[in-house]
Amino acid sequence: MKGTEEEKRWVLCPWCGAKTRLQIVRETELKDFPLFCPKCRRESMISVKHFIMEARRPDAETQC
Ligand SMILES: [Zn+2]
Repeated sequence: MKGTEEEKRWVLCPWCGAKTRLQIVRETELKDFPLFCPKCRRESMISVKHFIMEARRPDAETQC
């Protein structure tokens, strides 16, 4: 049975702060997820746990 409605949050782009198309709930866990931003068209690797997001910008690494 479901009590209160599950809280959902939009994942924000670490580059420009725009909303991406990705929504997460508290239980969502992502590890090294390639997040694409439809606004600035950049991709970043994110890790999420309990609504805490860590982002790694790809330019900090060697591009393939
Ligand atoms: Zn963006």
